[in-house]
Amino acid sequence: MTAPQDELVTILTTDLVAITRGRSFLPEALDGHLARGVGWVPANLALTPFDVIAEDNPWGSEGDLRLLPDPATRMRVEGLGPTPPHTYLADIVGLDGRPWECCPRRLLVQTVAALEREAGLVPVVTFEQEFQVLGAGWPQAPAFSFAAQRRADPFGPRLMAVLKEAGLEPEMFLPEYGTDQFEVTCRPTSALAAADRAVMLRLLTREVAARQGWRASFAPKTAPAGVGNGVHIHLSFRDHSGQPATYDPARPGGLSEAAGRFAAGVVRHLPAILALTASSPVSYLRLVPHHWSAAYACLGLRNREAALRICPILSMPGADPAKQANLEFRATDATANPYLALAAILCAGLEGLRAGLDQPSLVNTDPSALGEEERASLGAHRLPADLPAALAAFRADRVVASWLPATLRDCFLAVKEKELALTADLPAEELCRRYAAIY
Ligand code: GLU
Ligand code: MG
Repeated sequence: MTAPQDELVTILTTDLVAITRGRSFLPEALDGHLARGVGWVPANLALTPFDVIAEDNPWGSEGDLRLLPDPATRMRVEGLGPTPPHTYLADIVGLDGRPWECCPRRLLVQTVAALEREAGLVPVVTFEQEFQVLGAGWPQAPAFSFAAQRRADPFGPRLMAVLKEAGLEPEMFLPEYGTDQFEVTCRPTSALAAADRAVMLRLLTREVAARQGWRASFAPKTAPAGVGNGVHIHLSFRDHSGQPATYDPARPGGLSEAAGRFAAGVVRHLPAILALTASSPVSYLRLVPHHWSAAYACLGLRNREAALRICPILSMPGADPAKQANLEFRATDATANPYLALAAILCAGLEGLRAGLDQPSLVNTDPSALGEEERASLGAHRLPADLPAALAAFRADRVVASWLPATLRDCFLAVKEKELALTADLPAEELCRRYAAIY
């Protein structure tokens, strides 16, 4: 039996390998912890997914930090039954309460502020996330079918109710193309709230599945031959006065000049930021041609093989095109820290605006079906094909170097090199199995 007092409040942070960790206390201690946070250790940021710390991290055994909860992220979900989760997401700060330069959440806030200050653009964002349910033993059902949804009940309705109670504003639950694969979308919101929602959606989805005795996995691939689980980041912009700023029907693809320059920056710097958006060795089993996952850095109009896609715009009565126009970044997955992934995309886009880049050519067919020359003329480039190649591009890029604090960059590289060393000899099957169990 659980009593009403069987509850802890947990302060959470999401690290460089996209694992959400934290500390808990009794609800009676909440006021003090809201004001002063809970203790944290710098080297925690150097953990690999396998609970092995990258030894050559910048801090070693030294230093102390606080996880300072953001009151706006409070979440307590009765719908999950006894011992409801009661959580806050935190910024990482020093003992004096000042921001820590390596806090991913803070870096996103800073990057959003730079975009607003320099370009007058306020991003509106949502993460569209796919996952697979493992261990349910369901009979096969056709992709996208009503049968595929109903055999999972009450999983779908329960999940949507939990997400609603948690304030995530869920919009759609659908059976996807892959084996026992689903997708959930939430309403667009500010960049920070969208990344917070991405984190909470994963935690809550795993909990709802676990209560049925299943595992919900957001790993980019749960089997080498299977379908990928993508995280697609949708982005649009508002101007200072809150007016939509993404749409211009007179321009190619209907993108405003500013959105076009932003897209150009993303496409140009995509190879360098890829390590921050597709961050694990297993990410690269997904980012291959013909997976609708985005193997090419290019801008596509309603093309799901393009890493950056201009989404469709309804022209039905009552649907304002200016409010609908949005870009979808498809080369992301759940092994990437959502704050860093989004911040990296915004930074790359801002660089396009700073440099006054012209909107890239639209690639409206599968880039891998084009010849080498045609691809080059459209500016479509194959993305780094594995994590070592992505890390090399990350290391070489001056924009990444000038934007990411050096300590954070060094720590990220140390973690990823360690993760590569720990997984180097694993066959693809085993690699997928390991990541499916963690993500
Ligand atoms: N599952 C695909 C991916 O890995 C995406 C499919 C879709 O377009 O929704 O990104
Ligand atoms: Mg999908």
